[in-house]
Amino acid sequence: MSTEGHQITVNDLVIDVVRKDIKNLHLAVYPPDGRVRVAAPLLVDDEAVRLYAVSKLAWIRRQQAKFERQERQSAREYVTGESHYYRGRRYLLNVVYHDGPPRVALRNNTRIDLIVRTGSEAAKREQVLLEWYRRKLKEAIPPLIAKWEPVVGVEVAEWGVRRMKTKWGTCNVEARRIWLNLELAKTSPHCLEYIIVHEMVHLLERNHTDRFVAYMNRFMPQWKLYRDELNRGPLAHETWEY
Ligand SMILES: [Zn+2]
Repeated sequence: MSTEGHQITVNDLVIDVVRKDIKNLHLAVYPPDGRVRVAAPLLVDDEAVRLYAVSKLAWIRRQQAKFERQERQSAREYVTGESHYYRGRRYLLNVVYHDGPPRVALRNNTRIDLIVRTGSEAAKREQVLLEWYRRKLKEAIPPLIAKWEPVVGVEVAEWGVRRMKTKWGTCNVEARRIWLNLELAKTSPHCLEYIIVHEMVHLLERNHTDRFVAYMNRFMPQWKLYRDELNRGPLAHETWEY
């Protein structure tokens, strides 16, 4: 249950405040423009939210600066020499024009060969690479779900991959359906595994409560390392407070 949000200003920073039936304050900074949002328990007043935000100002500024850098970097052209990530490693893109079906191949752990038809434009080159990422990610997910179902003690009824701007994964508890961000094809395999476990644990506990954290600590004691690794990457934006 949540009530309608409003805004407060801290220094020159505008913060969206949403009150929810939760136990702890939760702060998030969202790409691309660094919007700041605080979810607060129903009984925590604006003055307490303001004090909390002041204590987190340095962190908020760091996140916003990071998004700004990413915005500048994100104009990808899919040309030879660009850096692209796959399973946590950096590769150099090598575009090959060829009159045949487009495909992608890894070479020497250092290159991604992007083979496209002569005359393919940037949008087409992007599409071919993203389809490859999607296929690779979709191959990696089922064994991980199968591995963790007996451990977590839940069954995932359905899963899928989509492009999301602000989240690594989402979960529909009623439908027992998990969506994973296509960007996870670019992160380390253990980060993908962490997000899968995280979303599966939401089938046991909907919110990031103490109970949720206790499950994570039990199933994947090192989960905070993986979360921190994701938080250094391109989608990073969230901190949990508990
Ligand atoms: Zn979550």
